[in-house]
Amino acid sequence: MTERTLSIIKPDATRRNLTGKINSKIEEAGLRIIAQKRVRLSPAQAGKFYAVHKDRPFFSELVEFMSSGPVVVQVLEGDDAVSKNRAVMGATNPAEADPGTIRKEFAVSLTENSVHGSDATESAAVEIAFFFADVEIVG
Ligand code: ADP
Ligand code: MG
Repeated sequence: MTERTLSIIKPDATRRNLTGKINSKIEEAGLRIIAQKRVRLSPAQAGKFYAVHKDRPFFSELVEFMSSGPVVVQVLEGDDAVSKNRAVMGATNPAEADPGTIRKEFAVSLTENSVHGSDATESAAVEIAFFFADVEIVG
């Protein structure tokens, strides 16, 4: 089924000029980048985006990292886009990520793991609306 998901290229990756290489992996996986913009999140915005993790021990480190530099937020579309993107991203911990995945090839650490991807269609809808107006998404 055709789905949409939210992807974020995180500050560790924009800092190292990896936007194009990561976009190639996404496109090679058969996903279309149907909206994309480069933004700098404030700590408050990063905290709001990751509110689901607010009670986790890594929350403050995550918020500090996500607001430490520019990110590229994007809407991906394709068959089973949510799970397809999670597959090309690789495991959260890059040490456990499969060969060929974005996190295996590019991530620096468990926190600085290069990409975010929605984990379900419901959270994808909320996360897409967090960053994009409908008129900015051209499928
Ligand atoms: P994912 O991004 O794979 O969906 P989670 O939603 O569990 O992973 O976590 C969100 C982000 O928080 C991760 O991508 C990573 O940047 C960071 N993170 C997760 N777990 C840890 C941890 N144990 N220590 C430090 N940072 C973490
Ligand atoms: Mg997650």
